[in-house]
Amino acid sequence: MSVLRPVILAASGSSRLQRAVTGFPVSAAVVRRFVAGETRAELEPVVRELLADGRMVSVDFLGENTTDHRIAEETVAEYLDLIDLLADVWRAVSAAPADARWVRPAEVSVKLSALGQALGPDGPGIAVENLRTICRRAAERGVWVTVDAEDHTTTTATLGTVHLLRSEFPWLAVAIQAYLYRSAEDCAAAAASGARIRLCKGAYREPAAVAHHRTADVDAAYRDCLATLMRGSGYPMVATHDPAMIERTALLARECDRARGDLEYQMLFGVRPDEQRRLVAQGRAVRVYVPYGRQWYGYLTRRLAERPANLMFFGRALLSR
Ligand code: FAD
Repeated sequence: MSVLRPVILAASGSSRLQRAVTGFPVSAAVVRRFVAGETRAELEPVVRELLADGRMVSVDFLGENTTDHRIAEETVAEYLDLIDLLADVWRAVSAAPADARWVRPAEVSVKLSALGQALGPDGPGIAVENLRTICRRAAERGVWVTVDAEDHTTTTATLGTVHLLRSEFPWLAVAIQAYLYRSAEDCAAAAASGARIRLCKGAYREPAAVAHHRTADVDAAYRDCLATLMRGSGYPMVATHDPAMIERTALLARECDRARGDLEYQMLFGVRPDEQRRLVAQGRAVRVYVPYGRQWYGYLTRRLAERPANLMFFGRALLSR
């Protein structure tokens, strides 16, 4: 694991640095690379192009750790408009894949901390109600919802919220981070329940008491969780850019007799686009996680920590304004 990773992840939590950096509008180069834009109007052509190209989307309105009721309410309102936009764009794009009975090409990704989970003792209840509002609109418009995984202090509340709402919205999905020790058990429970699960390695700075740190250990944990989900009764969403994990998924798909429509690959907007297109050309289902909005700082610093080679690119883009 890179020596820069803990330093960059520490910076991702620094509100002073965040205020200084986000004083700049997102430079065009950074927008083009990792973030689809700051507004829905900028997002729309990106989504349209991805869908027309045969890739599915999961769109994230950037924002996290809201400590203000008003911002949580504004976030819900933005998601409702976003769902309407995605449904309309999807309907207008006929070239996108429409293979499986129940797979939805348009999805939103949501962080419960952006919906009010951290608003004091009432926060978890507020987040449940806000997520329910979003799921109702998504159900009306034929759009899916996945809840992102945040730092480990929120895992129990997040899984509990999704479990609660899955009785109303069985397609509601959640991300599980393979680096957490608890995730082997969480994946086993999810696999038995038939849930839709996004499996990722995990992007936060976590203490050794709760999460693997060594790359080899994280990869081994990912392989184990992947096998559990692929052999289970749910719908695995394999969120990784790692060639070894992508290859392992293909092997497991053959072993478990999972066809297109029984699993999907997921990658981030701007990361390995050629690989995304290669998988689509092979007939595999691929979904791209597309972030947009003004609150891009935390998201981008996590991407930098994963791949410090991106640091030069990011720095140049900011300085070139
Ligand atoms: P890594 O372990 O970072 O890299 C492994 C190998 O993959 C590298 O050696 C290289 O060969 C290849 N690779 C990786 N990146 C690149 C690149 N940019 N260019 C070329 N090759 C590359 N994390 C969360 O904590 N919560 C979430 O809800 C969450 N949602 C996610 C949703 C999606 C769709 C994706 C793709 C990731 C999500 N993540 C989330 C982030 C995830 O946890 C990892 O931090 C991130 O994906 C990096 O891990 P990796 O498996 O892609 O590969």
